[in-house]
Amino acid sequence: MDKEKHFEEERRRMVQTQLIPRGIADESVLEAMRKVPRHRFVPEDLIESAYDDCPLPIGEGQTISQPYMVALMTECLGLKGDEKNLEVGTGSGYQAAILAELSGQIYTVERVEKLSKRAGEILKALGYINIQLKVEDGSEGWAEFSPYDGIIVTAGSPDVPEPLAEQLSEGGRLVIPVGGCYSQELVVLEKKNGKLERREVCGCVFVPLVGRHGWEK
Ligand code: SAH
Repeated sequence: MDKEKHFEEERRRMVQTQLIPRGIADESVLEAMRKVPRHRFVPEDLIESAYDDCPLPIGEGQTISQPYMVALMTECLGLKGDEKNLEVGTGSGYQAAILAELSGQIYTVERVEKLSKRAGEILKALGYINIQLKVEDGSEGWAEFSPYDGIIVTAGSPDVPEPLAEQLSEGGRLVIPVGGCYSQELVVLEKKNGKLERREVCGCVFVPLVGRHGWEK
């Protein structure tokens, strides 16, 4: 079988066995998960594990999140198609690609230059033109293009960074793992009449958000 066909089948299986049974129901999210070639975002030597039910190392001590967590966080944003989103923690670029399939414009910030550069190259090679990357402390958000309809933080934070709350539009949603260094709670905050309504989704484990409004180290 040709390689791309093989991976396409792997993606179908991933959706059938990892996402649908655990309750991911948004058909547009499932379709994006079936479409984006996750194997292109993982290191060469892990390509055969790309669709496994776990996070994988991407170098620099960082990870690409488990497929289920990517789908869950995306579903929590409730995207309709034309939103402007901010991602904090570009990592491999995979989550940004999923968002780009489901909304208008994506801004993504990564603190490790090497990861951002690699992610940018992969996203370009795959033809994504609605994703802008920058290397910076994303706990400060990206004020220039704010407010955002959706903000997704793919690293664990001790608290909700104030700049991110500020850069969220009215009616917008912020999805972020909040808690300790080794385990967090996935939290969805929705801005209603200028106030944040908070909903806790589940426990999770993310690498730390390192920055001014995150962890010190
Ligand atoms: N969304 C990624 C997963 C990233 S893992 C993917 O789809 O592959 C979390 C990432 O957050 C790491 O790459 C880490 O370097 C980055 N990170 C940690 N603190 C950050 C900060 N303050 N600003 C931006 N990126 C940060």
